[in-house]
Amino acid sequence: MPRLACFDLDNTLIDRDRAFRDWVEWWVRREGLGPEAVDWLHEHDGGGYRPREELFASVKERFGLEADIATLVDAYDREYPVFASIDPAVVPGLASLRTAGWRVAVITNGGVAQQSIKLERTGIAAVVDYCCISEAVGVRKPDPRIFKIAAARTGATVADGWMVGDHPAYDIAGGIAAGLSTILIGNHHPAAATPDRVPTHHFASVLQAFPVILAS
Ligand SMILES: [Mg+2]
Repeated sequence: MPRLACFDLDNTLIDRDRAFRDWVEWWVRREGLGPEAVDWLHEHDGGGYRPREELFASVKERFGLEADIATLVDAYDREYPVFASIDPAVVPGLASLRTAGWRVAVITNGGVAQQSIKLERTGIAAVVDYCCISEAVGVRKPDPRIFKIAAARTGATVADGWMVGDHPAYDIAGGIAAGLSTILIGNHHPAAATPDRVPTHHFASVLQAFPVILAS
């Protein structure tokens, strides 16, 4: 049975922080807000983990926007993912795993509308076997069931498989609970790195993960 290589999306395959920064610059200018709005949004973003309804409720109140919260969130879901940026070596890296016989899945906590745009625009969707978006399957990382769903959908086994991601709780603890070896990318959430969330490897970039998985 083919083996499974799973990848988180935001701040693993794509540079989420940079995409958010670019969107903030663009949006603040379009809304005609002052430069203080840029700093304010970064402070209140919660690294992307704060619910967007909550974020835009605060934005609306702080800057006196007229649009209702649902409209602001809806526009964000369509406009922000367009700024998704990816290292050009990532797509060939994913493709090389498939060529070597691996089943490749993206496993991301998030909404279908927003994550689908990122996956399509960056070219990731075209080179992986399955994109597992938590909103679509009704399960979120670190619940090990989401990794089992990816295995079932791709016809792979989790035995001797990998999970690669930037979050110690969602990606690393979740992957370990599902029986996968794990690779932590970057240092985005140092406070979440506990002794029971120690990855098999820790690299600065996802590009370093591809040869390690290929050699395993
Ligand atoms: Mg992430």
